[in-house]
Amino acid sequence: MIISEILKHALDAVWEASHCCETIAENFRHNDSQTKGDASPVTIADYASQALLIHRLTEMTPDLGIVAEEEGDELKSQPEMCDRIVEFVREFEPKLTRDNLLSWMDRGNQLEKDPKRFWTLDPIDGTKGYLRGGQYAVALSLIERGKPILGILGCPRYQEGDLKHKGMVFYGGADIPAAMVSSETATPRTIRVCDTVPPPEARLCESVESGHTSHERSAKLIDILGISKDVLRMDSQAKYAAVAHGAAALYMRLPVKKGYREKIWDHAAGVAVIEAAGGKVTDLNGKKLDFSLGETLSANRGVLATNGALHHATLAALQTLTPEESKWE
Ligand code: AMP
Ligand code: MG
Repeated sequence: MIISEILKHALDAVWEASHCCETIAENFRHNDSQTKGDASPVTIADYASQALLIHRLTEMTPDLGIVAEEEGDELKSQPEMCDRIVEFVREFEPKLTRDNLLSWMDRGNQLEKDPKRFWTLDPIDGTKGYLRGGQYAVALSLIERGKPILGILGCPRYQEGDLKHKGMVFYGGADIPAAMVSSETATPRTIRVCDTVPPPEARLCESVESGHTSHERSAKLIDILGISKDVLRMDSQAKYAAVAHGAAALYMRLPVKKGYREKIWDHAAGVAVIEAAGGKVTDLNGKKLDFSLGETLSANRGVLATNGALHHATLAALQTLTPEESKWE
């Protein structure tokens, strides 16, 4: 299948999953959220979005593996939770039963299939944002030889300017100009990063969660760069979207936990969109992100995404932090 065909079907699938997540949010019950072993939350919407997307991707590209964030094992002993998920997914896929829900979920761990070309998927990136009414993203990317060649970010709560539409999908890739679109039927609009060059005029965005990025060290960087604009704190890869369409110029992820390695599904789609929009992404040492090493970016430390023009100056500013502060382990 050619890439424009893949894009068309993948966009439909991301819209569908985004609608499913919002329907669940409108009908949310206390038991629809749980805590995973790593203390992060997971909801029936994470599972519903993953199941739907895995099903659509398998129909479209049966030969490609899929590496997705959630695991189906947790669901096997929870028939009531499965039934809640099936109830919402059936609106989009009436054939779904509890059994095939579990078998679809199990197809989300297929790195071994063809590691040179595979899908990676975060069914809800920013689950904490989803739960508190903030931003979240349905993030899908096609990786080829360690590089995201297509990225789609469904951002159902993203609002741009005075547009009355709430919810955007951003996409872009190696041969696909970056664009944003406000509904399935609207015409996509080409996007580009901003052309800000002086660091003091740059707007920086970062995670809301101080457990995911160091707010303390980014405050120091803001000082060093002389940035005067307010920091934009947002959950999920919507931050990549903000840089890709010029609402921000910088996105930094400064590690807080020693030994933590970023997950490929937390970055692949965002990287594809930003690069297609003229921006640049590396780790904090200026190294390209390597998506060929399994589920994590094990060769990289943190992330720096910029409009390109500010990349060098920001990397240089990172070097001026004290050795203790600029050590990313
Ligand atoms: P954000 O919304 O930008 O905070 O990113 C959400 C993502 O952060 C989640 O999907 C997690 O995979 C990821 N995450 C979890 N723990 C950490 C951590 N210690 N450092 C960086 N990212 C993390
Ligand atoms: Mg995530």
